[in-house]
Amino acid sequence: MSGKQIIVIGGGVIGASIAWHLAKAGARVTVFCGEPGGVATPNSFAWINANWGNPEPYFRLRITAMTGWRRLAAAVPGVAPEWCGSICYVLPPEELEKFAVEQTGWGYGVKRILREEVQRIEPAIKHAPEWALKIDEEGMVEPRPVALALLADAERLGAKIRTGVEISALALRDRRVVGVVTEEGVTEADEIILAAGAATADLAATAGVRIPMSASPGLIIDTKPAPPMLEHIVVAPQMEMRQAPDGRIIASTSFNGTDPGADPAATARRVFDDMCSRLVGGEQLELEGYRIGYRPIPEDGFSIVGRADGVEGLYVAVTHSGITLAPALGEFAAKEVLDGISEPLLASYRLSRFS
Ligand SMILES: Cc1cc2nc3c(=O)[nH]c(=O)nc-3n(C[C@H](O)[C@H](O)[C@H](O)COP(=O)(O)OP(=O)(O)OC[C@H]3O[C@@H](n4cnc5c(N)ncnc54)[C@H](O)[C@@H]3O)c2cc1C
Repeated sequence: MSGKQIIVIGGGVIGASIAWHLAKAGARVTVFCGEPGGVATPNSFAWINANWGNPEPYFRLRITAMTGWRRLAAAVPGVAPEWCGSICYVLPPEELEKFAVEQTGWGYGVKRILREEVQRIEPAIKHAPEWALKIDEEGMVEPRPVALALLADAERLGAKIRTGVEISALALRDRRVVGVVTEEGVTEADEIILAAGAATADLAATAGVRIPMSASPGLIIDTKPAPPMLEHIVVAPQMEMRQAPDGRIIASTSFNGTDPGADPAATARRVFDDMCSRLVGGEQLELEGYRIGYRPIPEDGFSIVGRADGVEGLYVAVTHSGITLAPALGEFAAKEVLDGISEPLLASYRLSRFS
């Protein structure tokens, strides 16, 4: 059914992708977002990947999402992921080996390269490891511009984008979520999709729905634009770094952000100094600043996507790794809401697993 009136709460990468897929399918969509482009989204490291200690179903969802980025890039002006690949030596050799075997078995394009090759393709890396993994199919995206591009194209396709409008609660009638409450009153719709990032749990609670999640802070640093130094996403022990198309090097010391600690400015300086010490020419880099994002993380670390239990009319999409997952979650959420189908790749990621 494409004539449904749907409200999407959230204009980060997840809400924007859902809105775009709904608008593309011909639904009547209104997006409400306080911050167009998102809250966590602009502060993301924005590495598109399918790996890292994940069970196979999550790997399958992520790899589908990676293909989805290629589909979106072909369809949406301004969506332009860079398929730069990654070089990874973050784990001790035995664990890296185990990881390579597992991922290769799942069909991930993981190649082993020796130190000489690491040095040849990334000459800026000091102290190159004896060997590393090279994963060509991984990439990066500029997260806020991409979310804005999806919103702009959704608008071109007929969606209404209401920016700067805060929703104070979901409007509930006879155990059905019928709309959203703003300072203008209640706006009604046939379906409400809640993709409000870290604010998702609080908004769901206004309809009596519990979303078990936490939002933890992660700090990343940006250098001032520098001449080309890094071709790949480099995933080293306690340091991941990448160079954005505008020349900034973006880094953090652990997956998806460093703990900012009590003195974030000092933490940022430490991350910057450590990063510079690892790069040939690092002494010429200048720190531009740091960003702290709150990661919207469901309690067990995996996505929550699907209809909320206990009420009608409410669909929830909240996740960590949202940059990677946005194309798949957008596509599947739109299909599930419009066509009533159940996407098998989401089977492990329903809210009901917590009940
Ligand atoms: C430091 C850091 C590093 C990360 N690194 C990666 C990575 O390398 N790869 C990866 O895949 N993922 C990464 N992530 C995770 C990823 O960034 C997030 O999963 C993703 O951005 C979440 O997007 P979202 O749209 O759900 O939320 P957000 O971007 O937070 O957007 C939420 C939206 O909801 C709106 N909203 C909230 N409450 C209301 C309200 N009451 N009324 C109206 N609107 C409201 C906001 O205004 C905003 O538009 C990282 C995150 C962080 C913080």
